[in-house]
Amino acid sequence: MRTPTRTQIDRLTVALDDLTRSDDYDAFIRAARDLAPISLVDQADAATAQIRCGFKAIADRHGYRSGTTNLTTTPPWVTLALLHTLLTWHAGYGRTCMHAPRADRPMPVSAAAWEPDLIVCGQCLHLLRLRDGSARDRTCDGCGRITEGVEHGEGIYPTVVSLGPVMYMLGACDACRWWD
Ligand SMILES: [Zn+2]
Ligand SMILES: [Zn+2]
Repeated sequence: MRTPTRTQIDRLTVALDDLTRSDDYDAFIRAARDLAPISLVDQADAATAQIRCGFKAIADRHGYRSGTTNLTTTPPWVTLALLHTLLTWHAGYGRTCMHAPRADRPMPVSAAAWEPDLIVCGQCLHLLRLRDGSARDRTCDGCGRITEGVEHGEGIYPTVVSLGPVMYMLGACDACRWWD
């Protein structure tokens, strides 16, 4: 199969974002699972289960709330960025950590809104860490506004959205936060 061009990836990102908001989404996911090699589906399911467990453990430990939603409830700025990172990685254009996780061998991986198109494995989360209190750490990934910081009464809500084996980290200001 030919590798898509970057322009095709951009178009596919928008098309998939539309699809996640359409009634055909569930049928599409079922069809995609039927078409993919069974071993790949199994690996992806295992990696997804691992992410979900890890997710819940972290949330329980820190007293965060965790929930299962699907992409239809996340705002387009989140879905578009997440899908773009995923597709770029699948096409082989993305950056990865030194362990070079591959999309065709699903394992739990992480990405962040502030490091576009970078995918790292579980051992390399430090590559996505932001310095506490730095301007980037106080920047909303939705509107790009730099908040004053929690000590001034306005901070960033860090959140993680998972899609399959990918954990995607981002920060949203009070106005861009889409959950209660
Ligand atoms: Zn790594
Ligand atoms: Zn914002």
